[in-house]
Amino acid sequence: MICPKCGSNHVITQQVTDTETETKTKGFGCVKACIGYLLFSIPGILCGLCGMGKSKSRTSYNVRITHVCQNCGKRF
Ligand SMILES: [Zn+2]
Repeated sequence: MICPKCGSNHVITQQVTDTETETKTKGFGCVKACIGYLLFSIPGILCGLCGMGKSKSRTSYNVRITHVCQNCGKRF
């Protein structure tokens, strides 16, 4: 591995892990319940309420490889 900036071969490789947590909350339970009520009366409300308050959490890991030149500090 050679630095593209200074041509030095004193380059270390670092593995960087980025963690992203994405939380999506369903906020349409009331709307669903209303629609359910209009369509199916009481069972519709129950169906609509079932979808309330559920949150979806997703965690993604992005692993990046970064090379750092020990000579000039260039990251690439
Ligand atoms: Zn360099």
